[in-house]
Amino acid sequence: MKIKSVLFFLASLLAAGGLVPATAQAGTLSIQPVVPDVWAVIGEDGNANAGFILTRDGVVVVDSQINPRAAEAMLRAIRKLTATPILYLINTHAHGDHTFANHVIHPTRGIIAHERTKVALATRGKQMLKEYPQSVGVKEAEGAKVTLPAITFTDQMTLPIADRTIVLRYLGIGHTVGDIVVWLPNERVLFSGDLVFVNHLPWLGEGETREWLKTLARLKTLPFEHLIPGSGPVGDRRSLDRFERYLSGVRRVVVEAFLKRQSLEQLKRTASFPEYSHDLKYREWLPLNLEHAYRQMEKER
Ligand SMILES: [Zn+2]
Repeated sequence: MKIKSVLFFLASLLAAGGLVPATAQAGTLSIQPVVPDVWAVIGEDGNANAGFILTRDGVVVVDSQINPRAAEAMLRAIRKLTATPILYLINTHAHGDHTFANHVIHPTRGIIAHERTKVALATRGKQMLKEYPQSVGVKEAEGAKVTLPAITFTDQMTLPIADRTIVLRYLGIGHTVGDIVVWLPNERVLFSGDLVFVNHLPWLGEGETREWLKTLARLKTLPFEHLIPGSGPVGDRRSLDRFERYLSGVRRVVVEAFLKRQSLEQLKRTASFPEYSHDLKYREWLPLNLEHAYRQMEKER
């Protein structure tokens, strides 16, 4: 445990009446203090992250975890820290590993998302739910359900909370068309959702890499110090730089393949990103990332 973590640990113990350890294993989740009263919930083996913020009047939860079992584990951890109500649940985007346990965390009226995320869940949610066991596994998908957000916005929203500034921002298309970030300017903490992955290759299935890079450039203008990504460990500004390098690297090798008149199959055989070779999903998702970018950039030309 680093010195910084020990300090948060002590602060957390004081706040919680000594009930919760700094890094608590709750089922398969790792619950970590980022700054006092702001917690990251890191999914096991790169599963989706979540988080929560304790305020005087209640708790703000960011994303609902991969399934109800994990959501319940997060709720148990919250209940060890505070008896105040869950005020809001924020969905950073529509994907099931961030939304399909909404019903466990909060009734619909307190769920907030970008309006495009609500549209995506309303129009494609049932289909996404049907496909969910294939993408995360039958056991992980147990109990998953579509619950629509009730509160939506388009550009920016500041939560009406007296003792803490929590700003939701939409910065452009990226991982999906409706990604939002949760920004705590006083604490310099950023929950990026799946706009940023740390030590984990991204899922580009719905991503638009050219727009995504522009969105990351806007994200960089926020003076954050602590980054809670959509997957992977808590990072910092360098984590965003590293992720940006990967995305632009994927685009670069595709451009080079076009110039060399390489086929997609040749590109998949030859391209490698040694800096990322130890990232989670490197072997499985690199070919998929290359294919996605290749097809997309063919259309861009
Ligand atoms: Zn996602």
